[in-house]
Order: sequence, then structure tokens, then C-alpha cells
Amino acid sequence: MNFFIAVIGGFLGVLLAIILFVAVIYFRLSASAGPGQMKELRNAFTHAKEIARDEYTRKKSVAGLTSLLEPRILKDFPEFNRDLLFSINEKNIRKILNCIEAKDISQIDNDSELVYVEPQIRAKIEDMKSNQINEKFDNIEFNRSAISSYTKDNGKATIRVSTSLGYYYNSNRKDKKSYSDIKKETRYTTEFVYVYDESKIKEKQLTISIHCKNCGAPINNLGNSYCEYCMAPVERINLKAWKMSSFKEDYNN
Ligand SMILES: [Zn+2]
Repeated sequence: MNFFIAVIGGFLGVLLAIILFVAVIYFRLSASAGPGQMKELRNAFTHAKEIARDEYTRKKSVAGLTSLLEPRILKDFPEFNRDLLFSINEKNIRKILNCIEAKDISQIDNDSELVYVEPQIRAKIEDMKSNQINEKFDNIEFNRSAISSYTKDNGKATIRVSTSLGYYYNSNRKDKKSYSDIKKETRYTTEFVYVYDESKIKEKQLTISIHCKNCGAPINNLGNSYCEYCMAPVERINLKAWKMSSFKEDYNN
């Protein structure tokens, strides 16, 4: 017990010394900082703002692993078409951004391309509604897409796509910068899933979630043609196709 008190005491002592040291430095600096230094400080601040603005308009790069990963995907899925995937990806991103802007899930509700990602977008829109958040994406333009990773195990294959794009962004969000006069250049990471063996997909490994349109219950068995809770018919999903399963803006790295 005495040892314990000694450790705490020692720790508090060191902490006090650090606080004292920082306080002395701070007061010395503020006493000696003349108008010149204050101007310098202001300049540094303006400079930091300019850097943030430059970063906002800088076209983002995408990880170019496509040439490395595409042959592996083609080996597993000979009918795989990269350009088709990229074009579906762009269409999906456009649809999702419009849906977020309108805060209206019904725009993608019955879209078979977006059946895996729909719950994520629905949750985002609910959150925006309850926090009175608005987001606007104008003049969406795509720069480039690349495949950044590929995995295949437990009955499903996943392709991750990195997409560089730009749009005029307007929002009242506090966690995201927006300038009304300059175009934002950003990057999105999306994932596409292909279920090649339904029987191997166990509940725990299921990263895609489907919900009943009638009662909202999760559909655990992807092969079901009706909801186990309310018996409403569930449209059979074509599992043997690449479908978007997640969607995320990837601005800061
Ligand atoms: Zn149901």
C-alpha cells in the first residue's frame, strides 16, 4: 500500500513539474511576443487555411493495384469485367449521393444493385434527419477508379474499389469542410461482394445485411423467398453478381 502511495506521489510530482514548466514558457513567450511576432502568428494561421483550401481542390490519387489484382479476380471469375464494375460503381455513387442529398431512401429502396448497401444509407439518412444535417453534391465528376484489394474466402469474394471524384459540396456539418465557391476533390472507398457459395456463409461471417421491407427484420438466410418473422414475400437476390456492400468517403488519407 505504501509503495502504491509513493508511486502516485511520484507521478503527481512529475505532472506538477511539467505543468509549471509549460506555464513558465507560456508566460515568457506572451510577455516577449511583440506586434511582429503576432503578425507572424497570424500569417501562419492564414497559411494553414490556404493549405486546407489547396488540399480541398487537389485531385486525389487512387491506389493502383488494378493490374496486380485483376488477373487474380479473372482466374476466379472469368466473366469479370473491370470496366463494367467501375461504371456500375460510378452509377451507384451518383445514386447514393442524390439519395443522401434528398434524404429520401425511397430513391434506392428497390434498386437491386444497392440491396446490400441500402441499410447503411438508410441509417445515415435517419441520422441526418434527426440531427438536421443537410448535404448537397453538385456537378459530380469522376476522375479515376482502381481496385485496391481483393479477397475470397468463406463463400464470398470482395473487391474494394477506390474512386477519385469531385463535386461542389455544401453542408451544415461541423465535421466536414465545405467551400461554396470551389470544387471539392475527394475519394470514396466502396466494396463489392460476390456470393459464390451461399452454404459457406455462416451468420457470423455475413457482412452483408438484408432487411425485410415489410417489418424490418433481418433476413439471415439469403436464399429465403419470404420473411421468417412476418411471412411477407422477399425478393430473391441474385447472389452470383458483384454488388456494392459498403460505401465510405475517404478524404483524409
Ligand atoms: Zn418481415
